[in-house]
Amino acid sequence: MANKGLLIVVSGPSGTGKGTVCDLWRKEYPDIQYSVSATTRKPREGEQDGINYYFHTRESFEKMIEAGELLEWAEVYGNYYGTPLKKIQEKLEAGQDVLLEIDTQGAMNVKSKVPEGVFIYLVPPSMAELERRIRGRGTETEESLARRLGAAAAEIEIGKRYDYVVVNDTVEQAMEAFEVIRKAERCAVNRNMELLDSMK
Ligand code: ADP
Ligand code: 5GP
Repeated sequence: MANKGLLIVVSGPSGTGKGTVCDLWRKEYPDIQYSVSATTRKPREGEQDGINYYFHTRESFEKMIEAGELLEWAEVYGNYYGTPLKKIQEKLEAGQDVLLEIDTQGAMNVKSKVPEGVFIYLVPPSMAELERRIRGRGTETEESLARRLGAAAAEIEIGKRYDYVVVNDTVEQAMEAFEVIRKAERCAVNRNMELLDSMK
């Protein structure tokens, strides 16, 4: 009996490298389905609607909340971010693994609704390295940088509520750790009860 797909949730302080590691993971393992989030944040240089995010106005985002179209949503650094529900459900039902790259508030909301999800917390090798990475990305103002660094320390505490913690030393090592987790989770006994029953 085919298992349903895994809902894999990756969080970590802004600038840790979630996007970079997840992009490589999806490139190496194209069967992983990525959930494109909705946001009211303005697109960064090179970001495309429907690829990186679905870009919305606050009004249209609030309509999606009211219509129950989001699995979770949160206000992060002054903008709304949320996970469209319908596509995820279809993919999981079809046995595909779905990756969500979302903030800790959103992840904990998903955990309460989907406890069988796989929750991975990605951390930088150090806070000094985190600052270097955000500065190196060159996308934040000093104010936004300070806000993200200020939030990072408090966020680390929430990492204790995840199932796994991965250190993003090199992108390749972190990506391999993600894939090892995915493979192990597929073998978890509680996900294979039907298989065992079918062999009795
Ligand atoms: P996040 O999605 O967590 O906000 P990004 O993926 O945008 O983080 O990464 C932030 C910056 O750090 C980017 O400039 C990226 O190239 C760099 N980066 C990511 N992972 C590593 C790593 N393992 N070593 C060095 N730099 C990294
Ligand atoms: P960024 O603006 O750097 O793309 O993302 C800022 C934060 O929003 C990151 O921590 C990112 O993981 C989070 N985020 C992105 N999409 C979603 C989403 O759909 N829901 C929630 N709750 N957070 C999200």
